Amino acid sequence: MSGVYDGEAIWSAVDTYFIDRLVTEDEALVHARESSIRTVMPQADVSPSQGAFLGVIARIAGARRVLEFGTLAGYSTIWLARAIGPAGRVVTFEVDERTAAVARDNFIRAGVADRIELVVGPAVDSVRALVDAPVDPFDLVFIDADKPNNPAYLEAALALSRPGTVIIGDNVVRNGAVADPGSSDPRVHGTWALIELLGQDDRIDATALQTVGLKGWDGFAIGVVKRPD
Ligand code: SAM
Repeated sequence: MSGVYDGEAIWSAVDTYFIDRLVTEDEALVHARESSIRTVMPQADVSPSQGAFLGVIARIAGARRVLEFGTLAGYSTIWLARAIGPAGRVVTFEVDERTAAVARDNFIRAGVADRIELVVGPAVDSVRALVDAPVDPFDLVFIDADKPNNPAYLEAALALSRPGTVIIGDNVVRNGAVADPGSSDPRVHGTWALIELLGQDDRIDATALQTVGLKGWDGFAIGVVKRPD
């Protein structure tokens, strides 16, 4: 590890050090992670440390009802489903049917299919149906789908929340691009809109943290819905 500092290499080495000691992935989780290669966005799942982080946050929040935007192969969904226990429910949105089929197999393999509802279609429509239903509030929301729709997802998440609901948004750093005012990347613009809303909306207290590791340099926004004054 001596010599020229190689950020990416040392981030990965440190992440691996933590994963080896702190993160227990069974065969079903490993399979889910590896099967993202058969989805629309190979390897776009959260890392093992980040999956475990989501599970820990769900347990801290005592979450029973979880809403997820962006299923992919179901890696993060499985972490969340296991954290909420057999009486819990995860509703997860995925636009791509072939990707959803991969996730469904992974939920069965992980033994959590009975606590997950996978809704296929554009998440804007899927979540609108929940808001209109209406349904019981969610305890935790994980926003990890198409970034340009982040503002719509946050609005819907707030409509489906109660005081104490935790809302997490992924990929808010994008290798530092979030701090580039000249960025023309629509995913960065979606991230800016998410961060602006989190900062301005009186209903939620939020912050954001940068992360480095096996997935490079990125970060999470995390907030908690406030009690009305
Ligand atoms: N949360 C997953 C994990 O960590 O294992 C990773 C999700 S991946 C970053 C983003 C997913 O969002 C992809 O599977 C993609 O197909 C899905 N997606 C993209 N646009 C969407 C939309 N408009 N509605 C629903 N899902 C969408």
